[in-house]
Amino acid sequence: MAIRKIREIGDPILTKVCKPVKEVTPRISELIDDMFDTMYDANGVGLAASQVGILKRIVVIDCSAEQDEAIVLINPEMLETRGEQFGLEGCLSVPGKSGEVRRPAYAKVKAYNEDMEEFIIEGEDLLARALCHELDHLDGHMYTELVEGPLMSSEEAAQLMEEREMAEAPEEEDSGETE
Ligand SMILES: [Zn+2]
Repeated sequence: MAIRKIREIGDPILTKVCKPVKEVTPRISELIDDMFDTMYDANGVGLAASQVGILKRIVVIDCSAEQDEAIVLINPEMLETRGEQFGLEGCLSVPGKSGEVRRPAYAKVKAYNEDMEEFIIEGEDLLARALCHELDHLDGHMYTELVEGPLMSSEEAAQLMEEREMAEAPEEEDSGETE
């Protein structure tokens, strides 16, 4: 187990399409362990293999507060999305920045686990956002392509959220703009 170097925006590897995994070799198992270590160390909720420089279709996600809901997705495939959410998003490959992105409110993904058994995962809210964000990485896409408005520093994002909270009723904090 080890922490790997996270590639940052501008690195061409982040724009490449990752290749499917045929079998989970000991090297792949080690990569998955390292991806979790790297993600938790950086306080992220998701990481794609390309972000540590490996062009394979592997994603790790953990959206839990206690970091005890580790999910590995090998060769994931988006089956269905529904609804919409609009909110702040960040990426370990774009350190210190965030921006507002429109994503589906619900996502259903088919993937394989470390034993190459097929499973289905459904997510709402943060998990839906993470699934979309990480699957995009496997096709060489970054959330920065989808950001509406400016990329902000943490301070700017915190300030924006504070202004929104003051302007809106608390129940509507995640509603975004009306169209
Ligand atoms: Zn990312």
